[in-house]
Amino acid sequence: MDTFDVMVIGGGPAGYVAAIRAAQLGFRTACVDEFTRDGKGSLGGTCLNVGCIPSKAMLDSSERFEMIQHDAADHGIEVDGARVNLSKMLGRKAGVVDKLTGGVAYLFKKNKITSFHGLGQLVRQEGDGWIVNAAGTEVQAKHVIVATGSSPRALPLAPFGGHIVENSGALEFAEVPAKLGVIGAGVIGVELGSVWRRLGAQVTILEALPGFLMAADDAVSKEALKQFQKQGLDFHFSVNITDVQQDSAGVTVTYTEKDQTVTAQFDKLIVSIGRVPHTAGLGADAVGLALDERGFVKVDSHYRTNLAGVYAIGDVIGGAMLAHKAEEEGVALAEMLAGQAGHVNYDVIPWVIYTSPEIAWAGLTEKQAKEKGHTVKTGQFPFSANGRALGHGDPRGFVKVVADAETDRLLGVHMVGPNVSELIGETVAIMEFGGSSEDLARTVHAHPTLSEVVKEAALAVSKRALHM
Ligand code: FAD
Repeated sequence: MDTFDVMVIGGGPAGYVAAIRAAQLGFRTACVDEFTRDGKGSLGGTCLNVGCIPSKAMLDSSERFEMIQHDAADHGIEVDGARVNLSKMLGRKAGVVDKLTGGVAYLFKKNKITSFHGLGQLVRQEGDGWIVNAAGTEVQAKHVIVATGSSPRALPLAPFGGHIVENSGALEFAEVPAKLGVIGAGVIGVELGSVWRRLGAQVTILEALPGFLMAADDAVSKEALKQFQKQGLDFHFSVNITDVQQDSAGVTVTYTEKDQTVTAQFDKLIVSIGRVPHTAGLGADAVGLALDERGFVKVDSHYRTNLAGVYAIGDVIGGAMLAHKAEEEGVALAEMLAGQAGHVNYDVIPWVIYTSPEIAWAGLTEKQAKEKGHTVKTGQFPFSANGRALGHGDPRGFVKVVADAETDRLLGVHMVGPNVSELIGETVAIMEFGGSSEDLARTVHAHPTLSEVVKEAALAVSKRALHM
């Protein structure tokens, strides 16, 4: 029987990164992953295969189409007859996915990680380790890392199938639906809704909550909603879905909104109402692996489960369901297993929504900071006063900085605007070091760049923004 120091179950961002870091630290490492694409094993989990990467590839392609159709003329570029070749666009997306998933397989080889394709299952404890069934072969491992991720949450009234799809189906429509319904105005719903709207669909988004992006800073969610509505995304809040029926022509959704009953007809319906932990097939029950009431694997602050030698990381333990959080947990756990001080700072995890304009934030919103007892001061600066944004032709949105009024410590930064997915990085680094708004304000930023808006927002905290 093969023996390993570390056996990882699940090859998504949590699992494959844990495996690479464990191998770098000298552990004999293996990973078993069951994800199958085009009949073959494909490492990288949800993120690389059907999540972060393909959705961003489609967001990019669709944004270019919209730019050519609507914005190019403003730059003095006249284009006649631009049209979408959807199969080519989907092919490009698949190529990006192939490159990255193949890249993980290459990194496994480079780091001498044994890779199994198939189901991984905890079998029994033996000696000071575990027997794991890795794709039909029993192997022994001292440490087992469960990184089995999450799956889309289904709506009982609208089970997936036919015209009702989750994230992977929503990235594979063979033609642009004329009328697209989206249940759930969260990150995934808004990103996928944006892709198909830009390609020509009429998109209706139905949300049960009374407001938009309630986790974001109020100023940001208000601005983002205004921009998305202007683009034609049709949002409905406080909606209660009462019936969903589908036939060969499409899907009929009945819902109540402000005491009115509405029936809407869609060609396709995306259900994006969150994700649930994936533990099916893992053998959790048989070996007594403790799950919480929502099905997440229970762990302590060192990612230890209730079973000695079994650890869990990534989406399957809950918290922020983000690839970078999962990856950091993979690194931290591998380092802890090597006796090092692995650590993830959950207070400064960047959140990004890759719409147009993009949305990004890290740290506390103004409201959260006040609820935590801080006296706060804030600074805000618009992209409309920034030369680079005007040059781009995209001056929408702003950056807002939240700092502690007494210590000036940076508590949170909130952005809506062009390329803010990249701009959030420097503020995360400053927060990671416990920096102040003054640190951000005094840092030299290149001119002309969008990042000057971040600096100006920090200057605005002490009412000395220069270009407003
Ligand atoms: P997963 O990526 O889900 O990987 C788990 C892997 O384990 C899968 O390959 C699964 O097949 C395998 N597996 C499960 N059970 C077993 C078993 N018993 N045996 C063997 N293999 C098993 N996050 C971001 O940070 N940025 C984004 O832009 C972003 N965009 C997203 C867009 C969409 C449409 C979706 C759906 C998600 C997006 N996410 C994004 C979230 C991100 O994909 C997840 O947070 C991330 O993939 C979690 O990583 P993970 O390793 O914990 O789990």
